[in-house]
Amino acid sequence: MSAFKTLDDVDVKGKRVLVRVDLNVPMADGKVTDTTRIDRVVPTLTELSDKGAKVILMAHFGRPKGAVVPEMSLKPVAEATAAILSRPVAFAGNCIGEEAATAVATLADGDLLMLENARFHKGEEANDPEFAKALAANGDIYVNDAFSVSHRAHASSEGLAHLLPAYAGRSMEAELRALDAALGNPQRPVLAVVGGAKVSTKLDLLENLVGKVDRLVIGGGMANTFLAAMGKPVGKSLCEHDLGDTARRILEAAKAAGCEVILPKDVVVAKEFKAGADARCIPLDAVADDDMILDVGTDSLGSLAVHMEDTKTVVWNGPLGAFEIPPFDNGTVTAARQVAMLTKAGRLTSVAGGGDTLAALNQAGASDDFSYISTAGGAFLEWLEGKELPGVKALSAS
Ligand code: AMP
Repeated sequence: MSAFKTLDDVDVKGKRVLVRVDLNVPMADGKVTDTTRIDRVVPTLTELSDKGAKVILMAHFGRPKGAVVPEMSLKPVAEATAAILSRPVAFAGNCIGEEAATAVATLADGDLLMLENARFHKGEEANDPEFAKALAANGDIYVNDAFSVSHRAHASSEGLAHLLPAYAGRSMEAELRALDAALGNPQRPVLAVVGGAKVSTKLDLLENLVGKVDRLVIGGGMANTFLAAMGKPVGKSLCEHDLGDTARRILEAAKAAGCEVILPKDVVVAKEFKAGADARCIPLDAVADDDMILDVGTDSLGSLAVHMEDTKTVVWNGPLGAFEIPPFDNGTVTAARQVAMLTKAGRLTSVAGGGDTLAALNQAGASDDFSYISTAGGAFLEWLEGKELPGVKALSAS
């Protein structure tokens, strides 16, 4: 793991600490409806405040594209954050200029202040050096606690790290350590579960993983593309028939890298994709022209269970079937529960994230027992694709 500094490496007492957080929370009628993102940054904010820092929160909300859009104000989020922290969080109506400077100047040690949506300025997404300088004017130290925005080279997520001494917050630190334990420096064998709808959206991810993991389980709609490429019938299943060459190329790359690809051995099919549809578990060769493959079968799950037995690290992205509609959630739920159980027993490390993965693992009641669940979405996927995340790189360089 590339080196980065943490809150253990700095004395923050009396310092103005600019903290980038991800508070892009779901809202309805001006109220926060899911506080997960706020909860994740609580440890960093309380620690800084307890240590006597002047804590200045920077964040974005929605996509105002450089204009002031009152509905995208962070003020209600500041109020929700204050309620969760059980301490006051002041608010400044602009993240730079007079208004921000005045609000910062009134802070006592341990106080918290949230600055208005950074994306109200074009310079934020453009990573404009002048805008970054204007942000930096209000801080002595920069802390990035927003892994989920670190795939963007924006002023508050990247630019600032070059202007102020930069540190990873506790949530960023936990995420980077979990990711390192999963793919950077993992215990082997490493098994990746990749599911979801399409191969086309996960090409980079598959290509990166075959070079890094020992076993790659492919499920979900994307497995159909691989099965079709191998000459198996897929009926009217979701399948990208034009990606046959791509699928074969990925299988070749896996072979060359010594990565075992584990595709479904049997499948659950139905004539219709709806709740209560007549679902049958059948061998691959028995898929009829009017069948839709909607989940992996019981033999496949048995084989996966055997592979899990001596696996030391699991990385999971995407459901193994159309999990939103029972009984097609069976594959995802069964496999997720096994990973959760083995993790709880201390037999493996498990890291999951991206897109629908969270919903699927929650549905299985498995998320609490995974070693780490990333809520980062796009940043987590880019990391799975092996891309360098600008916000993380800047932290390491600082
Ligand atoms: P993704 O966002 O790529 O992770 O894809 C998640 C979506 O893939 C979910 O909505 C699943 O219902 C869908 N999915 C998984 N397996 C299948 C399948 N065999 N047929 C159709 N859709 C599927």
